[in-house]
Amino acid sequence: MRQRYSRQIVFDGIGEKGQEKLLRSRAAIIGLGATGTVAANNLCRAGVGFIRIIDRDCVELINLHRQMLYDEQDASVPTQKATAAFKRLAKINSEITLDPVVADVNAANIETLIGDVDLVLDCSDNIELRYLVNEACDKLRKPWIYAGVLASEGLTMNIIPGETACFRCLFPEAPHPGSYSTISTAGVLNSVTAVIASIESAEALKILLCSPRVRKTLFRIDVWNNSSDYIDVGKNPDCPVCGRHKYETLI
Ligand SMILES: [Zn+2]
Repeated sequence: MRQRYSRQIVFDGIGEKGQEKLLRSRAAIIGLGATGTVAANNLCRAGVGFIRIIDRDCVELINLHRQMLYDEQDASVPTQKATAAFKRLAKINSEITLDPVVADVNAANIETLIGDVDLVLDCSDNIELRYLVNEACDKLRKPWIYAGVLASEGLTMNIIPGETACFRCLFPEAPHPGSYSTISTAGVLNSVTAVIASIESAEALKILLCSPRVRKTLFRIDVWNNSSDYIDVGKNPDCPVCGRHKYETLI
């Protein structure tokens, strides 16, 4: 029994076999902002054996209120988020493999970046990138978890090719750029990013362990207005992605 994980090994849903399976599991986290830093921290401490952490940006002072792996020193000189997160996470758990990648995830590199992992966690803030992740994961038959936050509200959904509806079933059309609020205009609370990323992390463990408890609904929470829902999302049989496997954003 691995002592550092003893408090989750005694949990019924994991056990020793589950822990060994997590240590053999591989995940990629796309985006190391508010949700990505929380998810990376959770998965690292839980002993997911290989975690690729991907982000193109540097740490800025305005990130610190919600991006939990960074500090003032990281923001004071140009520091890539992937590098800063790697340094922090490596001190937390030196027994797993962390693969920091400074990159803009795009159609040319996504299949390489996710091709060798068991699960992809969307921690981006970009709907176009989510459409790309959706298509790449459908093509490669990989599960991924959508997580989105704005203001005091968050959404998350597990997207498992062949089983659940996909992101395009959920959002058939991308809104026009500039027609919707962003974190720059509507803000975001660190509490909702942490809640959504933690739920995403719990689902990640369940998916990696092939648990029968994997959630099949869209989860929504508003931490300021005191509401939460589990919403059924039907699979669209004519969906161009999960229905017809026609990809518009992949090369
Ligand atoms: Zn679909």
